[in-house]
Amino acid sequence: MSTTITRQIVKIDEELCTGCGLCVSPCAEGAIVMIDGKARVIREELCDGAGFCLGVCPTGALTLETREAVPFDHEAAEPIIAEKMKTYIPQVCFKCGVDEDHAPLLPVRQQGRSEWVCTRCLPALIHG
Ligand code: SF4
Repeated sequence: MSTTITRQIVKIDEELCTGCGLCVSPCAEGAIVMIDGKARVIREELCDGAGFCLGVCPTGALTLETREAVPFDHEAAEPIIAEKMKTYIPQVCFKCGVDEDHAPLLPVRQQGRSEWVCTRCLPALIHG
């Protein structure tokens, strides 16, 4: 029997999920997979609860919840991360176009859209 802990983990609202698949790529650990046209976390030990998938979901189907779950398994995730990095497409800031190799990017939602914004453009976005 696996030991569980209280931690953050991704929750997917099946009603809101359109099955677009946009959340699969940002999940470096491969925790999110598409099954029967819906996004699902089938191996909770691969979800680190960082929430990088949240910002790309166009419908707001993804949230973080705090609940009992098996701990994140670094050893299980490592080979998946290494494999995904071979085909990884870097995201860019929607305001200035800088990519994540040159500035940290954060997911934001505004006016119904999911975007990435760099830390240099974020203050202007917050303060106008
Ligand atoms: S990005 Fe959102 S709508 Fe698209 S598959 Fe993932 S959870 Fe579903």
